[in-house]
Amino acid sequence: MEMSVGRRDTVRVHDLVTGYRSRSAVREVSKSFDATLLSGELTCLLGPNGAGKSTLLRTLSAFQPAIGGTIEIEGRPLADYSSRELSRLIGVVLTERVSLSNMTVGELVGLGRSPYTGFWGRLSAHDMEVTDRAIRLVGIDELRERPVGTLSDGERQKAMIAKTLAQETPIIFLDEPTAFLDYPSKVEIMQLLQRLAREEGKTVFLSTHDLELALQIADRVWLIDKTRGVEIGVPEDLALNGALGRYFEREGVVFDMTTGLFRINTGLSRSVIVTGDAHSGRMSMAVKALAREGVLAVTPGCEELPCDVSRPDMTVEVTADAFIVDGSRRCVTIAEMLEAILRV
Ligand code: ADP
Repeated sequence: MEMSVGRRDTVRVHDLVTGYRSRSAVREVSKSFDATLLSGELTCLLGPNGAGKSTLLRTLSAFQPAIGGTIEIEGRPLADYSSRELSRLIGVVLTERVSLSNMTVGELVGLGRSPYTGFWGRLSAHDMEVTDRAIRLVGIDELRERPVGTLSDGERQKAMIAKTLAQETPIIFLDEPTAFLDYPSKVEIMQLLQRLAREEGKTVFLSTHDLELALQIADRVWLIDKTRGVEIGVPEDLALNGALGRYFEREGVVFDMTTGLFRINTGLSRSVIVTGDAHSGRMSMAVKALAREGVLAVTPGCEELPCDVSRPDMTVEVTADAFIVDGSRRCVTIAEMLEAILRV
């Protein structure tokens, strides 16, 4: 119940077609679709390179006109807003490296106030307060005096997000905010954006190539590709209706319904009967390690074997402190278990 409280449509798209118009021709990039973005939610835009993610973000931010259809922000056509109004409505975080590398983080974040002060405007006491709060929210107080040029990629990304927060826009668009980051920093940035959506009621919409991360953290996902167009849903619905499989499965990569994530298909050829507590981490790790070696774990309740997998001729019993192979060989680690099984 709590989930839907305060969530409302802030961006509404109808029959939208994005693309490029030159003097002689119109080149459509994404096919017509309808969609909404909700406040309080993190929405991720996923699709292969060249699918039209940046084009869509640019169109929604009014950096380029739509080829067809309508975009409404807070109930009013995007085209009706002045650029000054838009700068108080939509904050855009682009991936480009900032050239302002001599500026301190505090100064950079303060620039987020320019829609209210004018670019060269002095910050009022209120502007300073908003800037301070943005820095606190993102958790970069200790970076405040650092020149932007000395930051790590993850720190710089946080500073850019703080700048956008200082802009105090209800809507934030980000183009690949997790690109170039190491995995922990990707997770941190996504969690930060989710928190800002939840706690600050922002409408957060971002493009990313980090499929697995997006499927775990996004409230809603927009899938985009050239032939299929745009498909939208809660990640688990897109799993159940097969959309994720259609958009992303390829040779060697399959969508796994039990985890809701993609997995590498190593081409299983053998099988082994695995018993023990099916819900334990030890069991899942044993199954995972076997799968990597092309061995299918036949667990209690397992359905029929795929036809290209041989009948199990070995067993592994997973206990609290060992992996017992064929009833007698006691292995303490998974490495030992694999060796016992694969050496046969
Ligand atoms: P993505 O962000 O998903 O990688 P883009 O939105 O950058 O995809 O590109 C989508 C398509 O639009 C591509 O085929 C690209 O070549 C084309 N495109 C991008 N920018 C322009 C432009 N300025 N003029 C014409 N076509 C463009």
